[in-house]
Amino acid sequence: MTLPAGLCDGCRFGRPIRSRRGSQFWLCARHTTDDRFRKYPALPVLDCPGYQASRDQDGEENRE
Ligand code: SF4
Repeated sequence: MTLPAGLCDGCRFGRPIRSRRGSQFWLCARHTTDDRFRKYPALPVLDCPGYQASRDQDGEENRE
């Protein structure tokens, strides 16, 4: 089952993780440097002070 990730889906710090059983999580790379952010945020994330768009003005995707 795929959960809607909300902001994490388009955030440069978000990365989808799939377990062996097929469950999907989103890993927040910001958790390593800022303890305000959970490693696996509760989804969907609708508001986040750490959000930064994963795509730049040219449409190139940049993820941490
Ligand atoms: S910074 Fe916020 S929006 Fe970005 S991946 Fe982490 S929890 Fe999601």
